Amino acid sequence: MPRPNPFCHLALPRLALTALLLTGLTTACSRPDPETAADSAPPPVRVYSSRAEHLIKPLFDRYTRETGVPVRYLTDQAAPLIARLAAEGANTAADALLTVDAGNLWHAAHQGLLQSLDSAILDANVPAHWRAADRSWVGLSVRARAIVYSTERVAPAELSTYADLAADRWQGRLCLRTSKKVYNRSLVASMIAADGVAATEAVVRGWVANLATPPLSNDTRAMQAVLAGVCDLTVVNSYYFGRLLQENPDALLAIFWPNQGGRGVHVNVSGMGVTRHARNPAGAQALLEWLSSPAAQRDFAGLNKEYPVNPATRPVATVAAWGEFAMDPIPVERLGELQAEAVRLIDRAGYR
Ligand code: FE
Repeated sequence: MPRPNPFCHLALPRLALTALLLTGLTTACSRPDPETAADSAPPPVRVYSSRAEHLIKPLFDRYTRETGVPVRYLTDQAAPLIARLAAEGANTAADALLTVDAGNLWHAAHQGLLQSLDSAILDANVPAHWRAADRSWVGLSVRARAIVYSTERVAPAELSTYADLAADRWQGRLCLRTSKKVYNRSLVASMIAADGVAATEAVVRGWVANLATPPLSNDTRAMQAVLAGVCDLTVVNSYYFGRLLQENPDALLAIFWPNQGGRGVHVNVSGMGVTRHARNPAGAQALLEWLSSPAAQRDFAGLNKEYPVNPATRPVATVAAWGEFAMDPIPVERLGELQAEAVRLIDRAGYR
């Protein structure tokens, strides 16, 4: 009897996934008896993804149509997927890890779970500051962390930098997402890289002093709090602003790109790496190269209202409408390296 394959099941609860992973890893979904498969059929690429199914399935389906290579995937949060890869070691079924935030990608690479790639295609498609120096992972889309403010209570002329949100005039007017999520940790890491620990800690303490309400569970809740009048402004990834406007086009909110007189807007990436113990590393690398190509970039970024990493690809119209802005050119790998320092600073500053 063929054993069940976890990649036939999508976004299952973690315990169910674990059980499936333990029961069998390599049998094909559509071919109960793999030995009857034609020898010429290309082997599948198997992906662990913390990027949601609706953002990846259209791309993977198209890749299969264009190349004949099946892509199997399972989705979960980043931390359990990385822990799973570590626990499975050489027995992992995953050829690739797709996740969000350089902090998570760096963490996986730092644990030795990914392998370095030698690819002129990736070098050409992805600017160096959006991939690991050893190409153990490569950014595939860019997310910008912006200020979103109430157009009723804030004038854009009042806004300038992330650090300025620590100023006294924002007392009781700021909402922030919890620091337990990697996004603001990476923002703080970028501030440490630019301004040092002491100056950054003073800013984070100022943010905490200015909070109108305890940190909120996610970026969308933070914007809803602004809409509800709990606070006047917040800091979110731009695609959450896009989603909110899609559902509520009349929301009296606007986006502001901070730090334009200085280092630029804090950006981060979603990205992918080939696992150290991949059974199909060539297939995984080919998929990664395709995802970084102009053919795939517009949809990969556009489905989540993000920015393409490939400079040859324009963002979709909704995203382009938010205007052009300078991005912080820091290698996003640094955000991973500084993650632990950022978390210690955040704890000291009392940002929960
Ligand atoms: Fe997100």
